[in-house]
Amino acid sequence: MAKWFNALSKTREALSFGNLFSGGKISEEEIEDLEIALLKADVPASVVMELVTHMEKGFKEKDGPPRDQLAQVLIDKFGPDNGHDWQPPEGAVEPIVYLMVGVNGSGKTTTCAKLANLAKWRGLKPVLGAADTFRAAGSSQLKLWGDKIFIDTITGQQGSDAASVAYDCIDAAIAREARSVFIDTAGRMHNRGPLMEELKKMVSVIGKRVEGAPHHVWIVLDASLGQNAVTQARVFNEAVPLSGVVITKLDGSSKGGFLFSVYEELKVPVRYVGLGEGQDDLELFDPKLFVHGLLGLEDPPPPPPPAPTES
Ligand code: GDP
Repeated sequence: MAKWFNALSKTREALSFGNLFSGGKISEEEIEDLEIALLKADVPASVVMELVTHMEKGFKEKDGPPRDQLAQVLIDKFGPDNGHDWQPPEGAVEPIVYLMVGVNGSGKTTTCAKLANLAKWRGLKPVLGAADTFRAAGSSQLKLWGDKIFIDTITGQQGSDAASVAYDCIDAAIAREARSVFIDTAGRMHNRGPLMEELKKMVSVIGKRVEGAPHHVWIVLDASLGQNAVTQARVFNEAVPLSGVVITKLDGSSKGGFLFSVYEELKVPVRYVGLGEGQDDLELFDPKLFVHGLLGLEDPPPPPPPAPTES
């Protein structure tokens, strides 16, 4: 898909696979170059070593072109639950509650809006909840998004208790007969201890309002941070167990290789990927499209049509 191919151009350039596999046999020097490139693109060392071993062993002709074989090794790094769409647990009581966590600037607010927009188109009437009561602009930004995509946004006062705002959001969602609620949270990392306590409290309070909620706690990770984003995720996962990851800004990152670490280290599936700033720039994570985009296996997008000439 052209969207993925375009979004991964920076990481792909960093990898510079070029025509490495077109000639069949790969020299030792080429393998070494590739090893360095993979590490630079933030592919974890364990995955790089596995690929190198494959390349050193050589590729069997009967197993298809070397690039395809290498791609399959990478695709298999993502477990079967990656990319799968979110399904509420069977018999779950609606509204289905999604708590979005992550550090400021990661793209949480934007992602909340994009997900709610998607839910709207699927007929899962959504409500947005602005539980970032720490930042002055925390709730106004989400409200702006809500107005733009015609989805109700429930906001709280700046400085008020975030857990009680989350509770009110769910109350309001129930009153509106909404089927899904996307709650944006604070992400100030300089204040880590209190933030984690606040999130824990929020999870417990939400569970008191709707049985089994929050049904999902998803962390939003900025792809331009590469491996550092995984460190962030680990801290959050210790406080509130995560059930999914959304990667943002993959379109501008040259460190897309860190996605392999997300699953390898956290065992939390990647659900969605942000490929731009617009409301529709959110794609269900697809390991095959991701790896193919990374290796340049997808056909490049067609060139734009020529500009009309003046007659
Ligand atoms: P928050 O502080 O975590 O709530 O982050 P915001 O949602 O305010 O996003 C921070 C910036 O990242 C904004 O300028 C967004 O437009 C931008 N952003 C979010 N997601 C994406 C994405 O997938 N791609 C790109 N290029 N920019 C994004």
